[in-house]
Amino acid sequence: MKQALPRRFNVFEVEEKWQKKWEEMGVYRFDRDDKTRPTFSIDTPPPYPSGEFHMGNVLNWTYFDVVARYKRMRGCNVFFPQGWDCHGLSIEVEVERTHNIRKRDVPPDKFRKWCEQTIEKYIAMMKNSIIRLGCSVDWSTEYRTMSPDYWKLTQLSFIMSYKKGFIYQGTHPVNWCPRCETAIADAEVDYEQRKGTLHYIRFPLENSEEHLLIATTRPELLPACVAVAVYPTDDRYRKHVSRKIYVPIANRAVEIIPDEMVEPSFGTGVVMICTYGDKADVKTVLKNKLPVIIILTENGEINEKGGKYAGLSTAEARKAIVKDLEAAGLLEKTKSLQQEIGVCHRCGTPVEILEREQWFLKTRILTDKVVEAANEITWYPDYMKSRLIDWARSLDWDWVISRQRVFGTPIPMWYCKNCGEIILAKENWVPIDPKLEKPKIEKCPKCGGIDFISETDVFDTWMDSSITCAVHAGWPNHEDWRRLFPADVHPSGIDIIRTWAYYLMVRHLALFGEKPYKSCLINGMVLGADGRKMSKSLKNYVATPEVLDKYGADASRQWAASGGVTGSDIPFRWPDVEYGWRFLIKLWNAARFVCNQLKDYEPKESVEYVLQPLDKWILSKAEKLTKKVTDALETCQFNIAMEEIRNFTWHVFCDCYIEAVKDRLYKPDFYGKEKREAVQYTLYTVLYRILQLLAPITPHVTEEIYQIMYAEEKSHKSVHLSPWPTPDEKHVHVDETAEKHGDLIMAVITEVRREKAEKRMPLNTQIKKLIIYAGGKDTAEIIMEGREDISGTCKAANIEVLPKKGEGREIKPYSDIQFLAEY
Ligand SMILES: [Zn+2]
Ligand SMILES: [Zn+2]
Repeated sequence: MKQALPRRFNVFEVEEKWQKKWEEMGVYRFDRDDKTRPTFSIDTPPPYPSGEFHMGNVLNWTYFDVVARYKRMRGCNVFFPQGWDCHGLSIEVEVERTHNIRKRDVPPDKFRKWCEQTIEKYIAMMKNSIIRLGCSVDWSTEYRTMSPDYWKLTQLSFIMSYKKGFIYQGTHPVNWCPRCETAIADAEVDYEQRKGTLHYIRFPLENSEEHLLIATTRPELLPACVAVAVYPTDDRYRKHVSRKIYVPIANRAVEIIPDEMVEPSFGTGVVMICTYGDKADVKTVLKNKLPVIIILTENGEINEKGGKYAGLSTAEARKAIVKDLEAAGLLEKTKSLQQEIGVCHRCGTPVEILEREQWFLKTRILTDKVVEAANEITWYPDYMKSRLIDWARSLDWDWVISRQRVFGTPIPMWYCKNCGEIILAKENWVPIDPKLEKPKIEKCPKCGGIDFISETDVFDTWMDSSITCAVHAGWPNHEDWRRLFPADVHPSGIDIIRTWAYYLMVRHLALFGEKPYKSCLINGMVLGADGRKMSKSLKNYVATPEVLDKYGADASRQWAASGGVTGSDIPFRWPDVEYGWRFLIKLWNAARFVCNQLKDYEPKESVEYVLQPLDKWILSKAEKLTKKVTDALETCQFNIAMEEIRNFTWHVFCDCYIEAVKDRLYKPDFYGKEKREAVQYTLYTVLYRILQLLAPITPHVTEEIYQIMYAEEKSHKSVHLSPWPTPDEKHVHVDETAEKHGDLIMAVITEVRREKAEKRMPLNTQIKKLIIYAGGKDTAEIIMEGREDISGTCKAANIEVLPKKGEGREIKPYSDIQFLAEY
């Protein structure tokens, strides 16, 4: 071995160097022309460029980068793409805030430009973080969902789904954010606990002096009240069912109806049904065919149907109505309460339910197929499957896919001005923006009209990102895209199973009738050191660059891999990262030692090494380790893989083996050259094995050591392109006898060293005579086999092994074996 490892190990220099070189060398390129190796495709979720690659992303990307690297070493042609999911509400909201405008204050193209500029800035920041984390992404695959190339795919998928009958237009109640002025999907509604006020309002019964008391948190919806409901068997109110009752403020009479959704114990047990206070109202209205009175505009103000309250915001209207109720003597009392309300995921504004013409994808008819596919898929961990199934089954409405926004993929659609006929873009027209271009037809196929109205809505951003499994595979541009479809793994955070995993599923089922991924790898949330969800407001937030700047990528990846069971929430603790960093230093120092000891060593295939018991012992243990790590990585148990490798490297290889063979290394004249060569061979082999097993988790340090010590002989371009170790190598195989013998010899060495330490003697203190009472003939023979390493390591001038029990210090954990040392 000609090169030496430098004493100084600068994590940051090494990591940056390899990140550049890997890209230059094209180590992680997928080879589409290679038809011999099996493919392994990762459905990398294109992140929403928020500018911040947070510790949750570090956890997520580490998981699937470990999988990518492992599969590459297993001989797979790994496809690891990376895109950016650009469109969407949060960027628009940000642009509106930074420029202090609303979306319609500026021309759409100008607004789009601003969005694109913001996105590009964020992509650059996130890309830098992914590279700094050492992810083995094939950057030649990089894409942006806001580019025309990608518009084409989203629009094409819409046209296909339309033709297959999965798309419809309809007026159906939708979740509506009045601030963002757009429909939003169920998955974009967050639920928050907020303080509200329950108003007890008197509703006079028709033809009677009596009234019923109704408790509501939303008196501003009185003008939209279309019925009053009670629980069917509620004895207090049963007699009133089918009677009419006056709605205060609105001064209309509505019917009292029985409804099982009424909770008799809430408020007074009488509720008003409004269009719409919540989803329960939607169900009751549909079931009873009640009229619909929408009193809100798209920006959340009361419209003309609200009478004198028209033009007020909901909050203003609430105040005014409460005041009027009080004046009329109809407000009996108020009470404050904690309530759960739905708010916009992007801006936190309470969500309303409005009716507006929208485009829908028929998702509910796919529920059985989603359940079937979820059961076929391998989930890591398995119990996550039920999250997808429960979510699919819980959905009341189809997916509303249109949005009344600017920064999104346009819906490729026009309407005949004369007869209203829908003109759907043809497959070869896309990408197209119907706001800028006319349909490429002469006249309306139905009425011959020549004027068309453009669809101004855009797609929900999930329409872009929910086709990635097919897009990554190369659909529709590569004829052989089905080679990479379904994806081998779809990685997802536990919090986005209901969106990402679900939308991918329904979209691909609708388009191709097939599940889009074979397995789903779930990561939990990152918690603060205090065990609570990491968040800036809780002051337990740690930014990724801070961690990478302090300890580098390989240490951070060790935290991610070892933090906990896959799928569980993982706390971020600085000591965990620091431990990872100390492990790297330990590994480096061990490699330096090995490298120095191998200066005169040439690895030779043909040589029959004279392996000693401890050499065979560690080689067998290295093989067992390989099996454990392989099993763990096959089942995505990263924490087990990490702990096994670290324990072996630190405690078995460094603390035990290296210490026990130093004397043999230093004194070839005494022990014989061939016994030294056996150590050299063993060190060379075991260190290489450690590097290979570690490579998926700590890619940089392992590459650096590999390139200096092994690249010439092993002749793989990178450790990451070296084949995963298999047990058929000449000396490296599980040997239970060798392990049993080695364990015993190592126990003797450890106990003698422990005694010296307890007596506060230096470890190199000479022992004049070491007597070992082996307790039996067999054990005595084993110890005799290892006596050279024992006496060398313990500095015993004389060693005597007796096959009987005797006096002295017990050698743990062997209760029959003792020793006496004369110093
Ligand atoms: Zn909003
Ligand atoms: Zn027409």
